Amino acid sequence: MESQAKKAGVDLDALKAGGFIKEVGKEMFTVRLRIPGGRVPVSRLKKIVEVAEKYGGEFVHLSLRQAIELVHVNFKHLDDVTRELGLADQGIASCGARVRVPVACGGCEYNPNGLVDTQKSAAEIDTALFGIETGHHKLKVGFAGCPCDCPKSATNDIGFQGAVRPVLDKAACLSCGICVKACPVGAIVNGEEKEPLFVPEKCIWCGNCINSCPSGAWQASKRGYTVRIGGKWGINPLVGTLFATFLPESHVVDFTKEVLAWYVTNSEGLGRIRLGDLILRKGVGSLLDHLRLRFPDHTVQKTIPPRVIDTQTGLQPYPIPKEGEMCYETDNRSEGNLLPFQLLQGQAGA
Ligand code: SF4
Ligand code: SF4
Ligand code: SF4
Repeated sequence: MESQAKKAGVDLDALKAGGFIKEVGKEMFTVRLRIPGGRVPVSRLKKIVEVAEKYGGEFVHLSLRQAIELVHVNFKHLDDVTRELGLADQGIASCGARVRVPVACGGCEYNPNGLVDTQKSAAEIDTALFGIETGHHKLKVGFAGCPCDCPKSATNDIGFQGAVRPVLDKAACLSCGICVKACPVGAIVNGEEKEPLFVPEKCIWCGNCINSCPSGAWQASKRGYTVRIGGKWGINPLVGTLFATFLPESHVVDFTKEVLAWYVTNSEGLGRIRLGDLILRKGVGSLLDHLRLRFPDHTVQKTIPPRVIDTQTGLQPYPIPKEGEMCYETDNRSEGNLLPFQLLQGQAGA
């Protein structure tokens, strides 16, 4: 194929960078489409079907990162595929050492659990950063609308998870006990008079109390994203750990730019290294210090390195933090705002 491609003036590396992936079959490519947050307008979907029928195989593949992939496209048709999809504003994804298309769940727009507009955030990241070369490795961003974390945001290089901090208006409370039962982690307990008592160190910021209270006594005092950094999947998976809390939705692009800037600068000379591996190598303090300069109100005081999930051998290929590091992660703002380590890790839902 390579010699044929050369003869035809086709640059295979450039194709892969643009989301065209060489298949096993002679002259055949998979074309990965750029679909931030997995959202495809129906009108655009019709064009994708039209192009797939014209140039692709008998099926399309839905990638695990929410992309539609047209399979079995002959490389002679790649220009036509790109042009015809472009008529419906449908772009091609990227591969290689670039900022990839972000993934997201439905968020708050129509999902009753959603606390933030993940689709808007994903679209903003895609518009601002898609395809930027990192010079080292891929960089994946994911958005979950709430702590259920269906998109498994902590396994992205940068994972955003919707969060809300509840505050109780005691005067409005009916002492019905509904919020005590609705809290999934026991962060609200009954007081002596059956009044609800908030236990902030147990709270995972899910908002169930706010959504379930019949009198509106629980309100949101803060809303935004919990941010975990350093995750990845693959041969040596890592789960990203906590770097910021209640980051406003309006700061998502700037925050991601700062992480990217730290990654690019600090991985100089280290070749093909993922963000999580770089954090393990440099220590979490360097990235925390960098983020604190721009986001002092949201960067946590301390955190732990990305956590290893050894899916291959059970031999723990990464350095394991010392006992003392298995501590509570705290943010830097308020009393009692402690986030237990076990609640910050692997909150993946379905
Ligand atoms: S993370 Fe899951 S439950 Fe939460 S808003 Fe997204 S899809 Fe809904
Ligand atoms: S659900 Fe609302 S009204 Fe009922 S106990 Fe909780 S805060 Fe009070
Ligand atoms: S936000 Fe969620 S975890 Fe926190 S108190 Fe309310 S129901 Fe419990």
